[in-house]
Amino acid sequence: MNTELNQSLQQTFGFEQFRPGQAEAVGQLLAGDSTLAIFPTGSGKSLCYQFTALQLPHLTLVVSPLLALMKDQLEFLAAKGIAAASIDSTLSADQSRQVMDDVRSGRIKILMVSVERFKNERFRHFIQSVPLSMLVVDEAHCISEWGHNFRPDYLKLPDYRRQLNIPLVLLLTATATRKVKRDMAAKFAIEPQHIVQTGFYRANLDLAVVPVSLENRDRRLLEEVRQRRGAGIVYVTLQNSAERVADYLCQQGVNARAYHAGFDDPTRQQIQSDFMAGRVDVIVATIAFGMGIDKSDIRFVIHYDLPKSIENYSQEIGRAGRDGRLSHCMTLASLDGLNTVENFVYGDTPELDSIARLLQTISSEQRPGNEQGVPAGQGAAEWEMQLLPLSNDCNIRQLPLKTLMVQLEMRGLIQPLYSYFAEYRYKFTSSREAVLARFSGERQAFLAALFDATRFKRVWGEPDFEVLQQHYQSDRGRVITALEFLQQSGMIELESKKMTEVYRVDPVRLADPALAGELHHYFKAREQSEVKRIAALVRFFELDRCLSQNLARYFDDSAVPEQCGHCSVCRGEVAQLQYSYQPQWPDDAEIRAAIERLCQHLQVKTGQSVSTESQCRFLAGISIPLFSRNKVRQLAGFALCEQHRYEEIRQKVTELGNPS
Ligand SMILES: [Zn+2]
Repeated sequence: MNTELNQSLQQTFGFEQFRPGQAEAVGQLLAGDSTLAIFPTGSGKSLCYQFTALQLPHLTLVVSPLLALMKDQLEFLAAKGIAAASIDSTLSADQSRQVMDDVRSGRIKILMVSVERFKNERFRHFIQSVPLSMLVVDEAHCISEWGHNFRPDYLKLPDYRRQLNIPLVLLLTATATRKVKRDMAAKFAIEPQHIVQTGFYRANLDLAVVPVSLENRDRRLLEEVRQRRGAGIVYVTLQNSAERVADYLCQQGVNARAYHAGFDDPTRQQIQSDFMAGRVDVIVATIAFGMGIDKSDIRFVIHYDLPKSIENYSQEIGRAGRDGRLSHCMTLASLDGLNTVENFVYGDTPELDSIARLLQTISSEQRPGNEQGVPAGQGAAEWEMQLLPLSNDCNIRQLPLKTLMVQLEMRGLIQPLYSYFAEYRYKFTSSREAVLARFSGERQAFLAALFDATRFKRVWGEPDFEVLQQHYQSDRGRVITALEFLQQSGMIELESKKMTEVYRVDPVRLADPALAGELHHYFKAREQSEVKRIAALVRFFELDRCLSQNLARYFDDSAVPEQCGHCSVCRGEVAQLQYSYQPQWPDDAEIRAAIERLCQHLQVKTGQSVSTESQCRFLAGISIPLFSRNKVRQLAGFALCEQHRYEEIRQKVTELGNPS
């Protein structure tokens, strides 16, 4: 790295020199080569783009999955005197406009957005009008279907890059297996020699796996916390365990607090700053905790439940000992609850019939497009959808439904046009008269008509767009602009709901009879890959060879000792995970009766027969829209076999269905 760049690093960021990997990544980018950078959390990934962006002529667009991450990075940049901004849902219309002006004038060199922002047509128009130097994708493993945190909308990023003609790409992630790494690089045509990876191995982390039964878990946790002292994090799976375990530790005299996504923002910030300042020793948290936590002296991380995946485990223990001093990472491990983790996976695979029904719905509900020159009923047509009702109609959970929509989009069968809120409601913050008194002439008359055409229930009212159209000839657009203006001026409080997305669709290709099967196959492959990921997690904790070495190797890092000497396996303690108790199968007759009850119930409610897959989900206690809509959870027999693994339930149901 030349001295000029080092000088610039010191002047702008106050760092004497680059950390491992940073100089390489920055050097490649400045030479015009797109780069994939895989650095462990807390080792300065963000600096790679922050520094490079300042050397490039045009805008750097950063796509980040979490608002909290964006805000942290913006704060850091502001502290260094670098003009950066985000366009997100927390900004007012005026603020967004200001940001756009500053981007256009070149004052702002770094702009952060969520991937969902690209669905907004106004944003697309804006960003197309701005010259771009670099696209940065934070948490880039979200783009891979084989990653642990796949986000369907990320799949569209390579397309956006092409459309926006962005010459340079930087992908950033903390965790990627070899498969995910190759997948990410391929999607953005990044050369293998432009992948920069720093080591995963952390010599100061002591890793221990301790098999423990449910009965003994709290006591074992307490022993560990008392022995360790200093700041620590205990990770649990469920919000209510976070509270229960924190209460238990407090009763035992430990200065502990619970933390989870169920708390409101101010509470979460308070807990976080108490922990940072050392006013709280131990945080008992769900995975919601840790993003953006930069506390270097965390002395221990304990997993009270099995982590969700090896990727999660690696990120979570990675928060310990950033100061390089010895820190302890312990997993209290058993096979209890494993079926619950698996059941989340199985519930997300849509049934073949459901997919066929979705395709049928899209083909039958479309209306002719507005585009000129395309005769109705031929070629392009428009179709609009709201996620929740569509999820109910097709019996597909919302997340997999989003994934399906992206799959259709990637195949060029549908294309998002714009989105709008189908329903608005508002209430006056002063009085109707006071609002009207601030306007005159036609504007006053229009607002009076708007208020008259609003159905008020107590204080909130819903405007009737049709009445306004008929009696005042004012279109929907004007009404919404007026409501937004009143909201910005503080005269009303406005709420919008029922986000509606409008797509252009290709009815001919959607009618392809092979399509549903193809999409179903895609979901089955992902289901299998997720189940394998869970199996790999169990295998990892039961390893009889060094844990540190295997963890590094899982992430394709071979620069690691054969035996670390600071893990439970190196100390000669190989773990064997067990169930605290063996779940018993109910009688076959009882299972048959439960299935019978389900079938009769749904026959009455829907007039349709029940697939084997739905029967299995009923017995496993997995919720799907079909069940929620028809109050199936209340039936005796729901979750009858929830202690068992889904594959076993499926086998059982198949056996019972085909008596030999
Ligand atoms: Zn070891």
